[in-house]
Amino acid sequence: MSPEKEKALEDKYLFFRPVWGVECGDGWFGIIDELCAKLSRMDLSGARIEFIKEKFGGMRVGLSHVGGKNYGDALSIIEYAYDRSMETCEECGRPGILRDIKGWFKTLCDGCFAKTLSRSNE
Ligand SMILES: [Zn+2]
Repeated sequence: MSPEKEKALEDKYLFFRPVWGVECGDGWFGIIDELCAKLSRMDLSGARIEFIKEKFGGMRVGLSHVGGKNYGDALSIIEYAYDRSMETCEECGRPGILRDIKGWFKTLCDGCFAKTLSRSNE
């Protein structure tokens, strides 16, 4: 994710402190913003987002120190974000589907898929 977008999330949400930065494209910014907004409405004292990354085309979120009473709610918020990431282009945020780029999975729209394919053929 671009540093400006990542900084915007860090400024907005105190618990948003991914150790290795946000390891996905800018297209998922809106999903992450919504995820953090929902989490911030819960009592999350001490909780931290440790990582956000793309794996097999979907968004993985690592949230630590969630109190037991919040666990179920936090989990369903994270699962919702994952479901949205599987239908949102990771590069541009338009509707996307899971693509197989020579065995490497990514959720992309038609345009970004075509661009990625042509780059992979260079
Ligand atoms: Zn796209």
